[in-house]
Amino acid sequence: MELSNSCYVWLRRVTLAAGILLPGIANTFVQNSFAEDAKSVETVVVRAGRLFDPVAGRMLERPVIVVVGNKITSVAYDNPPSTVRATLIDLGDATLLPGFIDVHTHLTSNAGGGGYEGLGISTPRAALIGAKNARLTLLAGFTTVRNVGAEGYSDVALRDAINAGDVIGPRMQVSGPALGITGGHCDNSLLPFEFHYSAEGVADGPEAVMHRVREVIKYGADVIKFCASGGVFSKGDNPLLEQYSPQEMRVLIEESHRLGRKVATHAHSAISIKDAVGAGVDSIEHGIFLDDEGIALMKEHNTFLVPTSYPLFWFEEHAPQMRLPPWVMEKSAIIIPAAKKNMAKAFHAGVRVALGTDAGVYPHGLNGGEFWSMVELGMTPTQALQSGTVNAAELMGWADRIGAVREGMLADMVAVNGDPLTDVRLLQHVQFVMKDGVVYRNELSGPNSAPHSR
Ligand SMILES: [Zn+2]
Repeated sequence: MELSNSCYVWLRRVTLAAGILLPGIANTFVQNSFAEDAKSVETVVVRAGRLFDPVAGRMLERPVIVVVGNKITSVAYDNPPSTVRATLIDLGDATLLPGFIDVHTHLTSNAGGGGYEGLGISTPRAALIGAKNARLTLLAGFTTVRNVGAEGYSDVALRDAINAGDVIGPRMQVSGPALGITGGHCDNSLLPFEFHYSAEGVADGPEAVMHRVREVIKYGADVIKFCASGGVFSKGDNPLLEQYSPQEMRVLIEESHRLGRKVATHAHSAISIKDAVGAGVDSIEHGIFLDDEGIALMKEHNTFLVPTSYPLFWFEEHAPQMRLPPWVMEKSAIIIPAAKKNMAKAFHAGVRVALGTDAGVYPHGLNGGEFWSMVELGMTPTQALQSGTVNAAELMGWADRIGAVREGMLADMVAVNGDPLTDVRLLQHVQFVMKDGVVYRNELSGPNSAPHSR
């Protein structure tokens, strides 16, 4: 059952006017036209069996959280607050957690779309693909993402559409086109010379790089993404080699920081990781061939590692059915075992980690698998959860508003049935999602619970 808009608003008004606590009324999958209404007036009380506090790294019993509009105004334990004019969402014994954060997504592209077929996708089409994937990502419990690399600024359009309430999806930081060298991982080498095609973020030499940083900021980038090394899905380059020179990286990062933007870099080779860290990059994405020297350097500079580990496992299982080009398969065969070994080493050494999934190279909505794969490679479930909440919030510069369920923070919460610290796989089956105080998914409470439409 799904309540119609007018019916839902009427019920809400009656509830508020009567000043009663009515369980289940907020259970409907809320379409986004309600977002403004919810932000401005509604008080909601959320109760659950446990709350994961990523700051303390532990579970707290019987939380009672008061949400007014899009903010958390109080977090108490056991004692219900004296608020009377509020909607109650009673999640029973479920575990409540801060909304998850993914700092490495590709919402505007689909798995398997990177080859020749991808050349036929227009920017408007990419934005619409993004609308579909934004919804899947939000319903999987990821209330905030950082999208790293999109041609034509389709990610800027998506971010703005979500913020305007036109489509539903996570809160976003976006990069626009990723910067890279001619013929590198962030260019596109599928077409022959006579097409004279190069990707929008291509820039060679310090001056061109500086110009490109300013340009992507002009058109809406919140964060700068660049390619320091070769990669897997790029034809004709080598992940074991560096692409940007140390000098170009320094200019790129210095200019981005000067203009108030953080910098994320795709870096596979050991030398590219070290040069990017030395140049002051904020996060190393993938870090496949990270060596001991690189680990020490990352710890010294407090650089975040974004391991994107779930695709390593996903590809082992699904690559054979994807009919990928032979050069992708050849690179994967080298990269997957190296990445698993080196990520495990980095986790053990205590490099700071922010969760990033690379969703888009595999299907969207499976982002929760990253918690499982990081645990598979040696993290504790608590550390994995911290990397997808407080750490990711810090990397995004939003630690004051997201990443924890605390007074004054944005009301982004998810819940699962059971204890994810004993079964991390539960995080792949989120059953309650609230973003900005609006409920987008609730399979946990009350007889009025309506199935989310998906
Ligand atoms: Zn990526």
